[in-house]
Amino acid sequence: RAFNFSAGPSALPEEVLKEAAAEMLDYKGCGMSVMEMSHRSSTFQSILDDAEQTLRRLMGIPDNYRVMFLQGGATLQFACVPMNLMRGRHAGYLVAGNWSKKAWQEACKYGQADVLATSEPTGFDRTPHLGGMPDQSLDYVYLCQNETVYGTMTRELPDTGDVPIVADVSSMFLSSPLPVERYGLIYAGVQKNAGPAGNTVVICRDDLIGDGPALGDIVPTYMGYKLQASKDSLYNTPNAWGIYMCGKVFHWIEETGGLAAMEERNWEKANRLYGYIDGSSLFSPIARPDSRSIANVTFRCPTPELDAEFVAGAAERNIVGVKGHRILGGMRASCYNAVPAKAVDALLDYMEDFERAHAA
Ligand code: PLP
Repeated sequence: RAFNFSAGPSALPEEVLKEAAAEMLDYKGCGMSVMEMSHRSSTFQSILDDAEQTLRRLMGIPDNYRVMFLQGGATLQFACVPMNLMRGRHAGYLVAGNWSKKAWQEACKYGQADVLATSEPTGFDRTPHLGGMPDQSLDYVYLCQNETVYGTMTRELPDTGDVPIVADVSSMFLSSPLPVERYGLIYAGVQKNAGPAGNTVVICRDDLIGDGPALGDIVPTYMGYKLQASKDSLYNTPNAWGIYMCGKVFHWIEETGGLAAMEERNWEKANRLYGYIDGSSLFSPIARPDSRSIANVTFRCPTPELDAEFVAGAAERNIVGVKGHRILGGMRASCYNAVPAKAVDALLDYMEDFERAHAA
């Protein structure tokens, strides 16, 4: 298998893929694949229940939070969040990169969305910080906790007083433990650390769901958290196979030591790369040290031509997915849970050889 550093969809645990392959034609004696069975069957209901319960155990999700497996990607949540939670039509956004900027732009369609802080003037090389306590009448304070493109991560949640925090954690979901009770709502597209693309996990505190969406009846039925939570992710046909795969990944994480073990292993992988890049005379880091991501390590060569040569040479060594996002260029090595330490060994060996070959 390739050494896969893709930012998402990304590497999945080999054990999970093998298990899914073994069950592909006949899931536990029922004579069909999970892709082929009714989402109203008791077999699928137990797959869904097990996935939710395993996730609750892993993350320590309190009972007053609902868990939903929705479709439409993380992108649909850019609209679902304001439509459901902007009761006073006024929210605050921390803009740390392209994903939080898109979410903010979407929210501006539905009410007043203030940019409370942004790191755009410095090219999103760091995470922005709140200057002080935000206006307590805001409906929520929004952040993208790990900006996948720039490779920055907010390590300390801001103090927002009584204002709920809403976080897009897509690219750090299940990379480390999270204090769920400190958030009003957490969501993540699962295609980085939790499964194949096609499901978004939304974890929302009961009181924020309330009696229905903030914007009322104009909200598309599918996008209402109240309805989705009351139907336990089965309002319409869910991405059943994706939920089944997520459940398997949740079990794999649990059996591999849980989120604390993931965090330790992920920092070890990322810090080996950061350490090398910081000491290199060819490669330079993109994210500032105090804002660096646990998952997405971004760096570049002195010229775009060298970046392209690096990416092409990587493929010859079976190292794939290291090309930076098209809006930023350079390189990005995403070291999610299923990326083994030996993949980082291979990348570091290659970086050393490349640097030696291009020494001034
Ligand atoms: N938010 C973050 C942090 C992301 O990394 C991505 C995609 O990579 C998205 C949102 C958009 O996700 P999707 O493609 O599932 O809509």
